[in-house]
Amino acid sequence: MKRKSYTDNRAKYILALSVFVFVALNLSMVQLKVEKKMILAERFWAGAGWIEIFFISLYGAVVAYFMHNPANVAKWRKYTWGLFSAVFFSQLILGISGFENFLMTADKLHLPVPAMIIGGPIYRYEIGFMTILFLSTIVLSGPAWCSHLCYFGALDNLLAKRKPEKGKIKHKTAFKATTMVLIVFGALIMRFAGASYTTAAISGGSFGIIGILVIVLFSRRKGKMMHCTTYCPAGTLINYARFLNPFRMYIDDNSCTLCNVCTSHCRYDALNRENIENKKPGINCTLCGDCITSCHAGSIKYKLFKFGPETSRNIWLFITVSLHAVFMALARL
Ligand code: SF4
Ligand code: SF4
Repeated sequence: MKRKSYTDNRAKYILALSVFVFVALNLSMVQLKVEKKMILAERFWAGAGWIEIFFISLYGAVVAYFMHNPANVAKWRKYTWGLFSAVFFSQLILGISGFENFLMTADKLHLPVPAMIIGGPIYRYEIGFMTILFLSTIVLSGPAWCSHLCYFGALDNLLAKRKPEKGKIKHKTAFKATTMVLIVFGALIMRFAGASYTTAAISGGSFGIIGILVIVLFSRRKGKMMHCTTYCPAGTLINYARFLNPFRMYIDDNSCTLCNVCTSHCRYDALNRENIENKKPGINCTLCGDCITSCHAGSIKYKLFKFGPETSRNIWLFITVSLHAVFMALARL
């Protein structure tokens, strides 16, 4: 027993230290190599960027330390993801209120609606910073964008706080296909019809407002992230593109008793009866880890190549928490 707790402690210190070093190194590279001042504090006082890098790295280490315990994940994920979103939107509000230091590119402001990550490049016919950030997260940590990194999904997670309703969401795939078609063809039509930026912005903004209504009207009531699982085209793209990344979640055939208790612990609608029978969560799974401790038999596990479940989970946490901390420092419009 003693040995186990020693091992656990050692693993969480190693995880926390690795996140600290990785985040500090990456942000230091940005501070030293990128000509534009990317670290916010540096824009106000010369040299203050280094202090910010220290504190963001420390933040990443603390998050990793506590999330190492699967029982803490749902609570820590909710608060840290919420904080990430609050930082992102506060910078946007300050930026458009005239404090331009809080914006990445004041002259090229994009709408903070995740669907625009798909629609924007099609309409503008160019790939921007946000698209590159988005695609790199899929390659590095699969669907973690939708559980730790998206400024919008955090709202869905915060409001879907009731115990998830039983049964799977009906017509989920049809809803997802419809919004994806709307965004892709809408952007194409606007591009070829020469629609103005104002028209495109109003259309994108309306799509975002409907998304907020979906969160307020449905996610709150059902306890499931209705916006992210049925409406957001960026989430839909991730559902399929996530297979570019080798991390997986599976249900251990040898120990699962088919009790179905875990079904009421997934807000992404990825743990329905048929998923449990198939021994793997549904396509909506974001690897968030909220369900792990709900299983009395410990049957829900991470998998990365031939590594064991704990090592796989630790590697996933290292990548995801590091990205979360780096984005906290850099993600702004
Ligand atoms: S589904 Fe869309 S809004 Fe939800 S977390 Fe993913 S990208 Fe963000
Ligand atoms: S199945 Fe588990 S890990 Fe996957 S989204 Fe649902 S709660 Fe998160």
